[in-house]
Amino acid sequence: MPSAPMWTAIYPWSRTLSDTTTTPDAGLTEAAALLRHARHAVALTGAGLSAESGIPTYRGSGGIWTRFGEPTIDGWDLFCADPAGWWRAALEHNAVGSEFAAAIDSAVPNSGHLALAELERMGHLAHVITQNIDNLHEDAGSRAVTEIHGNRRRVRCMNCGTRDRLEMISLDHLPPTCPECGGVLKNDTVMFGEPIPDDALRTCYRQAAAADLFLVIGTSAVVYPAASFPIMVRERGMPLIEINPEPTELSHIASVIVRAPAGVALPALVELLRGER
Ligand code: NAD
Ligand code: ZN
Repeated sequence: MPSAPMWTAIYPWSRTLSDTTTTPDAGLTEAAALLRHARHAVALTGAGLSAESGIPTYRGSGGIWTRFGEPTIDGWDLFCADPAGWWRAALEHNAVGSEFAAAIDSAVPNSGHLALAELERMGHLAHVITQNIDNLHEDAGSRAVTEIHGNRRRVRCMNCGTRDRLEMISLDHLPPTCPECGGVLKNDTVMFGEPIPDDALRTCYRQAAAADLFLVIGTSAVVYPAASFPIMVRERGMPLIEINPEPTELSHIASVIVRAPAGVALPALVELLRGER
C-alpha cells in the first residue's frame, strides 16, 4: 500500500457534508465493514478496472475515444446487412493489428481482478457483472461473472445463442456457422445497436434484485442498462460503494467513495477483511 493518501472517503449520503472525511483508510475501513456484513454483494466493473492491465479505457484521460473520437454507432446494422463482409473486414483489421485489440490480447489480470476473485473465494462477493470484454475476470479466477457486453474471445450464434471460443471455430467459410444449429455466428461482443443477450440481461436483473450491497468499480456509469443496476439497488435502500479515481455519474448516490485506482483499493480491502491491516 502506498503511504501517501490517494483517495477521499465520502460517507453515506444520509449524513451531512461536515461528516465527510478525507482520510484514506476511513473509506476503505467503511467499505470493508459493509462487505463483512453483506450477505449478497455484487460488483459492476468497467474499463477502468482493466486500465492497470494496459487496456485503454474509452472515456476519460488517455481513453481511445477521447483521443480518436467515438466510432460509428451502426455496427449491428452493418453486421446484419452483410455478416460475411463484416467478418472479412474484422479479420483484416485484426491482421493489421489495432492498438486496442493488441492491448486486450496481451493483457493479464492485475491486482484488482485478483482481489475480486479472492473476495469471491472468501465469501464476501457473490457476483461480478462486467462491462469488459477482455476475459480478465475469468483469467483471474472469478467464477460468478456475467459479461453484459460479451467477450472478445468468444463467438455467439445469432439463432440459438450458443457461445464458443473463437479459436474453436472454422473461419474457412464466412460467415462462420454454428455447429449446433447452422445459424450465423457473430463475435460475442455486443455491438452498438445490438440488443443485450437475454440470458446475460436476466442474470444481471436477478443479481441487482438480490444484492444487499453493490460495488461500482472503474466505470464511468454512462452506459445503460449497466448503469441502472446500482441505481436499482440504491433505490431499495442498499449501500453503494464506488471505487474510481475520478467522479462519475453515480458519485452523488454512493454511500462510500474510494478515490483510488482499483488495483490499489481492492487488494487493500482484501487485507482489511483478512485482518492483515
Ligand atoms: P469508460 O471508458 O467509460 O470509463 C472508465 C472509467 O474508469 C472512468 O470513470 C475512469 O475514471 C475509471 N478509471 C480509470 N482508471 C481507473 C483505475 N485504475 N481504477 C478504477 N477506475 C479507473 O468505461 P466503461 O464505463 O466501462 O464503459 C465503456 C464501455 O466500453 C464498456 O461497455 C465496455 O464494454 C467497453 N470497454 C471495455 C474494455 C475492456 O474490456 N477492458 C476497455 C474499454 C472499453
Ligand atoms: Zn446455433
